[in-house]
Amino acid sequence: MKIICVGRNYTKHIDELQNEKPTEPVLFCKPDSAVLPKNHPFYIPEFSDEIHYEVEILVKINRLGKHIDTSFANRYYNEIGLGIDFTARDLQDKLKDKGLPWEKAKAFDNSAVISKFVPVEQYKNINNIHFSLYKNDILVQEATTSQMLWKIDELIAYISTFMTLKIGDIIFTGTPAGVGKVNINDKLTGKLENKTMFEVNVK
Ligand code: ZN
Repeated sequence: MKIICVGRNYTKHIDELQNEKPTEPVLFCKPDSAVLPKNHPFYIPEFSDEIHYEVEILVKINRLGKHIDTSFANRYYNEIGLGIDFTARDLQDKLKDKGLPWEKAKAFDNSAVISKFVPVEQYKNINNIHFSLYKNDILVQEATTSQMLWKIDELIAYISTFMTLKIGDIIFTGTPAGVGKVNINDKLTGKLENKTMFEVNVK
């Protein structure tokens, strides 16, 4: 199983990090060792003083595919979820400055929170799903999938031109504005529409 993440997929988040708006999706991967086991707390790693939360819509691939056409992409998933792409922002900023790959800042152990998954049929329009993240019960991030620069089906088509998508692969589709630092004893709660999808305690 692999995790493919999309960077810079929401305009307001691009602006808050003062990044350039990309002309094609930005992709990176997390290994399977990055998955935070269910119901485990997230321990802030020693190598960073600035771990950020990034809430993201997840798509679980249920069919093998490569060179998938956008118009057929909806046949390659039937469940979505919600996750956090934990990011060591201090490290990432240094790596970005040097033009180096982001793995150390993005692919570390437990950096991928993955919720339970729900059937897409539950939603009228996959491109208009509201999601949000609360830190200590205060809303910090919210958006709808309509605000994505590249929609889910376009992302699947794009990713599959480079990487074969396999059953069980998970796509992190990018984070909206409002990212920020986590501190010890924070509680992060992710919601898809009004449904709580995960709760993570930071230690
Ligand atoms: Zn992200």
